[in-house]
Formats: sequence, C-alpha cells, structure tokens
Amino acid sequence: MAWDFGISKEEEAYRQKVADFLDKELTEEISRQSWEDLGLDVEGRAFAKKLYDAGLMGWSWPVEYGGKGLPPTYDFILIDELGKRWGAHVPNDVAYTMVGHTVLRRGSEAMKKEFIPQIIRGEIEFSLGYTEPEAGSDLANMRMTAVEDGDYYVINGQKTFNTESHYAEYHWLAVKTDTKVSAYKGISLFIVDQRSPGITIRPLTTMSGERTNEVFYDEVKVPQNRLVGEKNKGFYYMMEALGSERNYVFVPSRYLPYLNMIVDYAKNTTFKGVPLAENPMVRDKIAQIAVEIDISTLLADHARWMEWNHLPMTCEPEITKVFVSEMEQRMVDSVMQILDQFCQLKEGSKWAPLKGRIEWEFLHSFMTTIGAGTSEVGRTVIAQRGLGLPRG
Ligand SMILES: Cc1cc2nc3c(=O)[nH]c(=O)nc-3n(C[C@H](O)[C@H](O)[C@H](O)COP(=O)(O)OP(=O)(O)OC[C@H]3O[C@@H](n4cnc5c(N)ncnc54)[C@H](O)[C@@H]3O)c2cc1C
Repeated sequence: MAWDFGISKEEEAYRQKVADFLDKELTEEISRQSWEDLGLDVEGRAFAKKLYDAGLMGWSWPVEYGGKGLPPTYDFILIDELGKRWGAHVPNDVAYTMVGHTVLRRGSEAMKKEFIPQIIRGEIEFSLGYTEPEAGSDLANMRMTAVEDGDYYVINGQKTFNTESHYAEYHWLAVKTDTKVSAYKGISLFIVDQRSPGITIRPLTTMSGERTNEVFYDEVKVPQNRLVGEKNKGFYYMMEALGSERNYVFVPSRYLPYLNMIVDYAKNTTFKGVPLAENPMVRDKIAQIAVEIDISTLLADHARWMEWNHLPMTCEPEITKVFVSEMEQRMVDSVMQILDQFCQLKEGSKWAPLKGRIEWEFLHSFMTTIGAGTSEVGRTVIAQRGLGLPRG
C-alpha cells in the first residue's frame, strides 16, 4: 500500500475550524498548564469546556459515547494544531490520548458509558499509575497488590512518578492480582477514585520545577466494577496500548514554536552590528533543527497512517518516540549554542532571550528520554520486535 499522508477536504475544514478557535481562545498561560504539569487549573478546565462547547472534541470517538465515529485523523489534527501553539496539549491529555482508548477496547459497557462521555467533554483527567520504586523499565517487577474481598479489591503499596495525581480525578492503576504466577500473567488494571480514603499523594519536584508524585495506598477499597477488562490481563492491555499511545503523545508539531522563535531571534538580533542570521554557524544549526522536525513529522505520520489503516505496528511508534525525544535534546543544545551565555537566564530575567524558555526546556528535556520508557529500552524494542534481533 502506498503511503498517502494527505488529508481530505472534510479533515482540512475541521483543521481550519480548530485553528480559528485556538487562535482566538488559547493563551500561552493555558498551554503551560499542560506541559509544565501545573494541573488542570481553573483556566485549563474552562478552556476544556470551551473546546467541547465549540464542537471540536471527540470527532474520532464512537457515536454511542458522544463522539462522531470518524477516523483517528481528526484527533491527530486536534493534537497537532494544539501543539503548534506553545506546545499545548488536550487539557485532559492522559484521559483523552491514553486511558480512553483502552477503556474503549477493554472496558465493560457500563465503564464506557460512565467514563468516555466525560473524557470527551474534558471533565475528567487520569494519572498513569505504573511505575514503582523497584519497577520502572521492568514493570513486571511491581509489588503493589490488590486482594479480592467481597464486592471490593483491597489495594496496598506504593507508586512513584505518577505525574497528574495531584489534580487528576482518577488513577489508572496497575497492580498485582496474582502473586503466584509469572508477573506478566498476574497484573490487573483498575480505575481508582484518587480521593478514596487511604490514598496519600506526595509531591516529587523535577529539576525543571515540574511536579510529579509518589502515591501511597493503605487498605484502599476499590469496587469490583472498577477492574478494567479481565482480571490478570493488565500487562497485556498495557503493552497493547503502547503503540497507539505513542502516536498521540510524541507530537512533532510541539517543536515548531521553538523553531519559529529562534528564526525570529536570529533575524532580529545583531552581534557586533551583524544580524545573527548572517552567521553561517547559526544558519546551519537552525536549518538542522528544521530538518529534524520534518523527519520526525514524517516518522509520526507514518506510524499514525499505519494505525488508521489498521496495519500491524511492530516498532514504528517506538521509532518516533526515540527520535522525537532525542531530537528535543539536540534542538535545545543547538539553540543554547546560538544564544550563548544568555541561554542560562531564567524566565523573568530582564535579558533572558526567548522569554527564558530555553533555560527551562534544557532542564525539562532530560525527562523526555526517560518518561514513558527510556531510549535504551526503546532501542531494545526496535531491535527485538522490529528487526527480529535476539534478546540481549
Ligand atoms: C518526570 C517524570 C514523569 C513520569 N511520569 C510517570 C507517570 O505519570 N506514570 C508512571 O507510571 N511513570 C512515570 N514516569 C516513570 C518513567 O516511566 C520511568 O522513570 C521510566 O520507565 C524508567 O524507569 P526507572 O526510573 O525505574 O529507571 P530504571 O528502569 O531503573 O532504569 C535506569 C537506567 O537503566 C536503563 N535500563 C533499564 N533496563 C534496561 C534494559 N533492559 N536494557 C538497557 N537499559 C536498561 C534505563 O534505560 C535507565 O538508563 C515518569 C518519570 C519521570 C522522570
């Protein structure tokens, strides 16, 4: 099948509608609430409602749960247009781009009816509860348990790096439900109300000032109907979701604002009377950033195209993830060299170029090759699943 990444007239009309809306309604302040993990604050929630009221959410979701039943292209257009404006995300990003799809695939009818319409309306957010102190890359090593007790499961243990927990309504929680079998066969997924008695959430602040969390469970009772799909199939559901999640989470358009900023800066800043844009080193570095953003866009479009044509994806979304996250670090490095010592100035500082965004982006960029799986593990997936190489 030939690749065809073009969009239809209807999709272009939707893109234009989204673009017009965002140009009017999306402020830099709102977009920061998502990429700095500041939480769906008052403005973020109001913006989510406006997006929904403008009729722009849920076009790719099934009609019976409040969507329009159209292909995933519509959601890709939505996240790309948001990304072009200060790197913004869908306000309830985890729910809309990750959890919702697994609920649709594996949740009970009652679960879909309860959660999907609220996700489309932007009313609820989830926090991913996978990582534990001894289980990051090796998720099968998780220790947290859920034990059946009448109509409930009783959950005990600890998660770490659960980023949205301090403001999300729900925890998308992976725990052991059978400790006697191989870990891959003994993990289940639950939807837990984050305000349940027995849950304690403690902040972990990253070096760029973003907040993530440790989450402790002490005899937390979760109703049976909050088990997602079948008991002990959680690991399989998590792996099943990975490819498609990467197609929604690693969005190259989010780097375009940086490219535009550095192009403007080079054109409008002089050094010893000569515009920076005339310096060959500066021009080379900016051109290279443009090349890499284009490559990452093609990689992302290819993986997304496979998804919407229902082709089996082995490692294509992982290739996008590894490339996009490492590209972010190369981009920051190049921009810092162009800004020279000014790159260290923080936002708010009188002389900070690009509003101090690069100082923040430098500190933030370390997590991109760790969060959602490290580059080393990503390359292992590509080698084994994509290229058929043996386990190391
Ligand atoms: C800011 C931030 C936000 C996060 N948000 C969330 C979240 O919301 N929810 C959530 O569940 N998790 C979240 N995570 C956790 C993230 O997914 C894990 O940090 C990541 O999977 C790595 O796990 P680890 O930290 O335990 O490192 P480890 O797995 O201990 O890895 C340490 C080092 O060893 C390498 N390594 C490990 N195994 C292998 C291997 N088999 N082959 C080669 N190298 C290997 C790794 O690449 C890494 O360099 C977040 C992490 C960060 C930093």
